[in-house]
Amino acid sequence: MSFKQFNLHTQIETGIEALGYTAPTPIQLKAMPAVLQGKDVMGLAQTGTGKTAAFALPILQRLMNGPRKRLRALIVAPTRELAEQIHEAIGGLGRATKLKSVAIYGGVSKNPQIRSLRQGVEIVVACPGRLLDLADQGEIDFSNIEVLVLDEADRMFDMGFLPDIRKIIKRLPTKRQTLLFSATMPDDIRALAGDILRDPVTIRVGAGVPVASVSHAVFPVASHLKTALLMKLLDRTDTESVLVFTRTKHRTTRVAEQMKRAGLSVASLQGNLSQNRRQDALNGFREGRYQILVATDIAARGIDVSGISHVINYDMPSTVDAYTHRIGRTGRAAKTGDAFTFVTPQDGSFVGDIEHVLGERIERRTLKDFDYNLPAPAGGGESERPRSFGRQGRPAPVSPYAPVKRGGDSRRGAARPSGRRSGGRSLSGFPQLRSSSKDR
Ligand code: AMP
Repeated sequence: MSFKQFNLHTQIETGIEALGYTAPTPIQLKAMPAVLQGKDVMGLAQTGTGKTAAFALPILQRLMNGPRKRLRALIVAPTRELAEQIHEAIGGLGRATKLKSVAIYGGVSKNPQIRSLRQGVEIVVACPGRLLDLADQGEIDFSNIEVLVLDEADRMFDMGFLPDIRKIIKRLPTKRQTLLFSATMPDDIRALAGDILRDPVTIRVGAGVPVASVSHAVFPVASHLKTALLMKLLDRTDTESVLVFTRTKHRTTRVAEQMKRAGLSVASLQGNLSQNRRQDALNGFREGRYQILVATDIAARGIDVSGISHVINYDMPSTVDAYTHRIGRTGRAAKTGDAFTFVTPQDGSFVGDIEHVLGERIERRTLKDFDYNLPAPAGGGESERPRSFGRQGRPAPVSPYAPVKRGGDSRRGAARPSGRRSGGRSLSGFPQLRSSSKDR
């Protein structure tokens, strides 16, 4: 199968070749014909599947005909990083087309964005807040919009953007093509899709299930030993680029500092950083200046770095969906990757929920020459506060695969892959986990 079957303009084929894409990914194969025909599409797909090109290529194809320097395609994304990444993908695929896009998001000066808009663009890739802001200032003319894309709609809902999305949609021409992509389908997104999509074609590619090219392992460890285990693991494992996820901004900074002191090449990425520092961390990681990036979930959203060999969950994610999104950062576009997750006694039966979604048991690993019995330093050390679930104080999004109520033992009876219930107790304090004592 090649991209030839789509009969794209030769300028677009030039871009595809320049990016080194030789064959369409499954979502591209499934979605592109419908999008090219102008149909509304609901795409259930996670990042890492090639969904950006699945909508960007047909949009470029459409825009090759018709007026230039008019805003005809609007792509809305939850984070600056994702908006920037989509903008770059369009720049790469559309390099020979002379079509122009601009990325619009907050946290940076408006002026360059306004300048680009005034010079004339055909495509805007935007986060909701700044988009509305500039629209209110009269800098954006929505009247010629032919295509709307809502990317990572479930994440926009998690981040509280749904009211803004509805405001934006009210300002668009009703006659348009609408594409909605989401890794999961919470009720609110289903309702939104029902309201805004017309007779949509639904495309599902591994939705809700982490990409198959990733192998998973959990490392039982006490909270106060996580950093030491992380260092040991990095020392013992053959890694290229490593993305480490922590639960809080504070912890992101602290873990990165500890690693830096140990002489590791590391940057951190969290929401409190200025856009410049975020971009430096991301670019440095992408270019290989930093081998390790420590990040929170929100900050890491949309990171597209090929060659991430390992995702390490220093802290457990708060939902199975978040796990899927995190590990979607490795194993991208047919490469393989490893996802390691540290699990403490406080994490309860969460591993079981992930196993349920994966449909297989995750291997438990221990490092042979690591002292798991080292006591916590007097005065606390790395304490594990009770977990708060959900983002921004709201309840965690409901995964179609797993109950999300946590904190109690309500999940104990949750369905699991048959015969996988482990009662082993090889490490003290980990009744849920059995060590395979496999070393790396
Ligand atoms: P996405 O899911 O859109 O974030 O894409 C994930 C990664 O796959 C990005 O690095 C893309 O550049 C890459 N990619 C997308 N489509 C293809 C393709 N047909 N062949 C190879 N790589 C691709």
